[in-house]
This record gives sequence, C-alpha cells and structure tokens, in this order.
Amino acid sequence: MKSVVIIGAGMGGLAAALRLRKMGLDVTVIEKQKRPGGRSNVLQEAGFRVDIGPTILVMKDTFEETYRAIGQDLNQRITFKALDPNYRIYFHDGDHIDLYNSMAKLSAEVERVEPGVTQRLFRFIGDSAKKYELGMDFVDRNYDHITDLANPMAGVRLVQTSAYQNLYEQVGKYFRTDKLRKAFSFHSMFLGLSPFDALAMYSLITYADLVEGMQYPMGGIYSIIEDMVALCGEMGVNLRTGVAVKEINVARGASGATCAANGVTLETGEFVPANIVVSNADLVYTYKRLIRPEYRKVYPDAKLDKMDYACSGYLLYLGVDKQYDHMRHQALYFSEDYRANLDAIFRAKVIPDDPSFHLNNPTITDPSLAPPGHSVLYLLAPMPNLQGKNDWDAAIPVIREKLYRQLEKIVDPDIRRHVVWEREYRPEDWERDINAPYGVAFGSLSQGFFQSSYFRPHNKARDIANLYFVGQATYPGIGMPMVLLSARLLQERLAKDYRL
Ligand SMILES: Cc1cc2nc3c(=O)[nH]c(=O)nc-3n(C[C@H](O)[C@H](O)[C@H](O)COP(=O)(O)OP(=O)(O)OC[C@H]3O[C@@H](n4cnc5c(N)ncnc54)[C@H](O)[C@@H]3O)c2cc1C
Repeated sequence: MKSVVIIGAGMGGLAAALRLRKMGLDVTVIEKQKRPGGRSNVLQEAGFRVDIGPTILVMKDTFEETYRAIGQDLNQRITFKALDPNYRIYFHDGDHIDLYNSMAKLSAEVERVEPGVTQRLFRFIGDSAKKYELGMDFVDRNYDHITDLANPMAGVRLVQTSAYQNLYEQVGKYFRTDKLRKAFSFHSMFLGLSPFDALAMYSLITYADLVEGMQYPMGGIYSIIEDMVALCGEMGVNLRTGVAVKEINVARGASGATCAANGVTLETGEFVPANIVVSNADLVYTYKRLIRPEYRKVYPDAKLDKMDYACSGYLLYLGVDKQYDHMRHQALYFSEDYRANLDAIFRAKVIPDDPSFHLNNPTITDPSLAPPGHSVLYLLAPMPNLQGKNDWDAAIPVIREKLYRQLEKIVDPDIRRHVVWEREYRPEDWERDINAPYGVAFGSLSQGFFQSSYFRPHNKARDIANLYFVGQATYPGIGMPMVLLSARLLQERLAKDYRL
C-alpha cells in the first residue's frame, strides 16, 4: 500500500486525506496547531463558540461532492439552514439594503435605492450566470500544458460576456448609484482582489451568492471540520496534531539530475517516510521554508517574492449579554469612500482611515453558539498584508475603536456595556499560527489572471518528484469550495500518476 504524508490539516488537507484514504492509501496528516482546521478554526471560551475564519458558505455542492466521493452523505451528518437574505449592507449614511435571493424581494430592496433598476439588475444576474458557467470551465480541471487553456468555445464566451474587462467598471454599466455599485462588486475581495483591479469574470461569485444562496451549517463552519476529523478516525487516517513539519526530505536520483521527496522531518527530529508528500501548508511557505534551496529550480525565493499577495484582515470577536433581533446573520458595512478604502489596502498597503468590514451574528440562526440571552458578533475588516510597513501595535487600538463606533451606530448605542467577552486576531497572527506569508488572510496568492488556472502554481511540483500540493495556493484557488475542488483535482492527479 502506498503511503502519503499530508502537511497541514486545513479543510483542503482533511478533504485530501479522506479522498486518498478512500482510494486505499495509507494516509498520515501532520498538523502544527493543536486543533485541526487551519483558517477554518474556532474559538470556544466562556460559553461562546465562534468561527475564526470563514463564515460564508456558498457552492454547497462542492461540500456534498466531497462527502459523496468518500461514500458519505453530508446532509445526513450536518444540518444546514439556508440564509435569506444573504447579507444586509449598511452604508455610511445609516441606510441599508438586504440582498435577498428571492428575486422579487431583492428587486424591491434595490428599487428603494435606485428606482427603475430592476431590469438592469436582472440583466446583471443573467450575465453573471454566463460568467459562472465560463469560470467553472477553468477551475474544474488539472492543467499540464498551456494549451490546456486553449478552448475555442471558452474564448468566444470570454469575449461575449466581456469577462476580461475591469470588474468595478463593468458593474458601473448596470448600476448608476454608488451604493449599488458597492453592493454588487465587493465579492472579489474574498479572493484577495480589489474590485478596482479584478476581472469582471469575478461577478460569478456574486451570482453564486445571490442565486445559489448561502448556507449555514448548524454549529458553525467548524462543525464541518469536526465532522471531517471524526471521519478521519472512522476511516483510519492517522491525524497527528500539535507537531510541525520542519523539512520535506528530498533525495537525488543516481544521475543527480532528478530528485524526489521521500518523507518529512518533524520539529521533534522524527523522520516520517512516505511514497508521496502532499503539502496543504501554504505553497510559498512550503517552498521557502520546508525545501532546501538546492532542490528548488522552479520557485526560487526571487520568483516567489515577485508574486502578488492577497490582503490580510483584523478580526474582532465579541460575546454580548444581549440579543439583537433587528440584525441579519451576515452583514457588510461599506465606508463612504470605497475606492480610498480599497486602494489603501491593496495598493498603498497602508491602514485605511475608515475601514469597511464584514459583520456576522451567527446567533441569529444558531442560538446554541452563546449562553441563553447572549449573542456572538464577528467583525472582519480587510487590512493590508505585512508587505506594508505598518506599526500594528499602534494601529490596532485605533482600528478597534473605529469598529466599536460603527457598532454603536448600526447595532446598539450601548454595545460596550454589553460586551462580556472579547478576542481579536491580527495580521501577524495568521503568519504565526498557520505560516501564512505576509500574514495574508483568505489565501496567499491573489487571483489576478496571471495567478489563476494554468498560471497558478500547479498541484504537482515540477522540480521534485512525489511532491504535490492541495489548498488555497494551488489551483483553483482561495475559499472553501475551491479548496475542496483542489482536493478532488489532487486525487485525480495521483490516480493518473500512480495508476491507482
Ligand atoms: C478571516 C477569514 C475569513 C474567510 N472567509 C471565508 C468565507 O467566508 N468563505 C470561504 O469560502 N472562505 C473564506 N476564507 C478563506 C478560506 O478559509 C481558505 O481559503 C481555506 O480555508 C484555506 O484552506 P486550506 O486547506 O488551503 O489551508 P489552511 O486553512 O491555511 O490550512 C493549512 C494548514 O497547514 C498547517 N501548517 C502550516 N505549516 C505547517 C507545518 N510546517 N507543519 C504542519 N502543519 C503546517 C497550518 O497550521 C494549517 O492548519 C476566509 C479566510 C479567513 C482567514
């Protein structure tokens, strides 16, 4: 039986472990943190339970397919609730709209802001559906040669849908008000891209959110990780936590020209041999820190340093001794000068003056996450990554204060008196805890055209045999659904390479 060692128990590492085990491989997962999950981790303290990272679950079919592939039924094991509206959007002037996936309700909401917009809204959704279909052609496959991109039909559809244009400019052709332009362009930020820099192709995420809808797994996203960990136990995956990999061991072939991975060495000095090594740890980190420079022909430091990195984030988690029925489960606050906010984060890499943020109150749907009569609030403000030279110790109290002031406006003027538990997560914490380069949050390599599909680092190392990747830094890319797809693509890759 072939043995595989997987470095990292993020969602991608766990999904890969289950799939490869189902194929009959002997699978060991080594995770540096005590608790598996990577970015999809959880805080459980003082009676509160809150997801640390992802909270927005779209493309549920990718989760269902992962479970089907290992002979399980996701919906039998985890209870999901559909969210409608998907989000409430708060604007700087105190106004808000709800983004429903019921089209009649959505139309009523947007008409309040921009009378007469409904036809243009429906055209936007229809055109985004075509981009979704086109985008799926590019994400749902392994790449070997650049000619794999050459799909004449896709080329025609790229032109027909104008998916190659700038996202914000294109959204501006459907919507005339600043408010709706914000509401229908922000989604690219989830891929670490400003809508002012992203391809219009990425309105496919808006489509997936609006039309396929958002789901909430009871217990939060971490309940999926807990279930995957339970399945590892049931299926015989050897999951080791609280121990980091220090090096991927590589041996040169007799000719000296080829080299191949043959296991990993842990921080403790222990050598774990394996026929196949899969890294779910960040790919940039893996090359820079876990592989000796003499074996790295394809990704030397200089090349990795030139790549484009996604943004980071500051997170504030609050336990509150009160319930807020007027809130929605998911919300976003947009600062007045959207462009200044995004340019500060993505271009100048400085701390924005008036941070926009994501506000999540999962206790609206799931009161079990807090003691009776209490709520948990999760605030995520996108921030520049650590390539910017910011003094975070000085900046964090200021950012925190600004977030509290907004909460006073949109949630409760007395909120400070009701906060009974508080935690935060800073850009440096992502680097320390999960080895995220430059403290990037959602994923490391931003998904511009030249860091997507064929151009994104492949899931098979070209310079070292038996070394593979799974997760956000290889293709298809960032976000839970993409990471689950990357596990499927890895499985297909290994099945072909090793005739499994
Ligand atoms: C704040 C935040 C909000 C997000 N919101 C959403 C959302 O709403 N919806 C969505 O779909 N996605 C969201 N994302 C993105 C999503 O969480 C990630 O893209 C995805 O979870 C990445 O999974 P992964 O398996 O690639 O890697 P990771 O989760 O990064 O896991 C990698 C694992 O490798 C481990 N590791 C690293 N180095 C070593 C080593 N040397 N030895 C052993 N182990 C090691 C790490 O500890 C980690 O557990 C969000 C991310 C963040 C941070």
